[in-house]
Amino acid sequence: MRHPTDDLGERHFRLLAAVRSRREYCSPWKDLAVAGVVALAAVLGAAIGSFLNVVIHRLPRGESLVHPRSRCPSCQTQIAGYDNLPVISWLVLRGRCRACGEPISPRYPAVELLTAVSFAAVAGARGVDEELIVLLPFTAVLIAVAGIDLDHRIVPNRIVVPAAVYGVAASALVRAGELPELLLAGAGAFMFLLLAALAYPGGMGMGDVKLAGVMGLYLGLSVLPALFIAFLAGTAVGVVRIAREGGEARKSGVPFAPFLALGGLVALLVGPELIDLYEDNFLS
Ligand SMILES: [Zn+2]
Repeated sequence: MRHPTDDLGERHFRLLAAVRSRREYCSPWKDLAVAGVVALAAVLGAAIGSFLNVVIHRLPRGESLVHPRSRCPSCQTQIAGYDNLPVISWLVLRGRCRACGEPISPRYPAVELLTAVSFAAVAGARGVDEELIVLLPFTAVLIAVAGIDLDHRIVPNRIVVPAAVYGVAASALVRAGELPELLLAGAGAFMFLLLAALAYPGGMGMGDVKLAGVMGLYLGLSVLPALFIAFLAGTAVGVVRIAREGGEARKSGVPFAPFLALGGLVALLVGPELIDLYEDNFLS
């Protein structure tokens, strides 16, 4: 006579086998999907990086971002489409203009490569996730703002204000449950940097304060490690510069947005892990 539990046991076994085979069947496809998204993000990042070069160069000058097409800064020859491929064209042309042979700054391919790698890393860290429509634009904003602050010592409202609006709107679409945390983190980071800017006038500008607020809107609680890294890196570079250049460095100051951007990128990749690390080591 068959005992009812035998049947149950067999069903259980069959179910387990089905789950196992399903997992084996699924996982290579899932890995492939992630690899595909990472590769796609890298290509997208290279193209966006090419546009960020235009933004960094033209936006602070109040020029249009779409017209005219890119020209060689030396001879003003319009750059053909096939000479405007991110990174690749610069390598093929060995860093020189095809028309006049003058060198083209390695900064252009560097920004393209940095954007490609950052996009791929963020996509790899998050996997196939709709949050990428919030996080990849944020990555681009960080790189653009860092480049503009390095060149002009400003953090333009024309970037941080739309970035704040987009961050809240897109988060409401794909991660509405996190909105309270994001808004709180934005307000908190804004207030914290505002106090720091008031305490050390000349160290930071209102642009940095607004950027920190925007970072909170995108990063939530991870804005804490982001700000920590920014202050740590900014202080380290400041100390080295003052040691090497003396009072001159203190007078000219250091643009702070690139450090905020660095902290923001690190927090995008490993922010929650850094918070866990802190909790495990200092709070338990
Ligand atoms: Zn030229």
